Amino acid sequence: MYLKSLTLKGFKSFASATTLRFEPGITCVVGPNGSGKSNVVDAIAWVLGEQGAKALRGGKMEDVIFAGTTGRAPLGRAEVTLTIDNSDGALPIEYSEVSITRRMFRSGEGEYEINGDRCRLLDVQELLSDSGIGREMHVLVGQGKLDSYLHARPEDRRAFIEEAAGVLKHRKRKEKALRKLEAMEANLHRVTDLTAELR
Ligand code: ATP
Repeated sequence: MYLKSLTLKGFKSFASATTLRFEPGITCVVGPNGSGKSNVVDAIAWVLGEQGAKALRGGKMEDVIFAGTTGRAPLGRAEVTLTIDNSDGALPIEYSEVSITRRMFRSGEGEYEINGDRCRLLDVQELLSDSGIGREMHVLVGQGKLDSYLHARPEDRRAFIEEAAGVLKHRKRKEKALRKLEAMEANLHRVTDLTAELR
């Protein structure tokens, strides 16, 4: 599995549709200060479902939509598509190539698509949940983020590692199963009481 391409349209400084193609291995994005290198990384986080404006270096979510320049009017929507090569079947879907699209309008409305079919954010998160690109996306390490990991409390650092290792998902499933067990136990007590009453 590797990232094959990224298309940005109306996202931050990328007003016109721009496609970046990646090859397997290491890709370096170089350019002058303020040319949009970090915006490319923000686009990857955003299309994968990032919900925090701060994590995208903005004040509010609409800040991801192209805000206009002296020569160009602002746009009404932002759209990013990330295409992942899935020829090794790492993602649980019957396609050798998977495209995830996120769109957002100035009204605040947003939508997601997997291979062109509308879906929920949850579907995107579930598709990626075993790939290491989890909900918290520790695979994206932004400027200053390394420092925050190094200075994190031991329990927070453990949570990072658990998320990256995919343990968190099983912990959540265990908690859900325990809650179901508790409810079942309460039901059993009630049935036992009713049986005793009827005797
Ligand atoms: P550096 O090397 O200094 O870290 P960079 O190449 O990573 O810079 P970015 O931070 O990705 O640059 O891009 C910053 C540019 O993106 C700024 O010029 C900013 O005005 C522009 N920008 C950010 N959000 C928007 C937006 N919503 N609309 C238009 N332009 C935007």
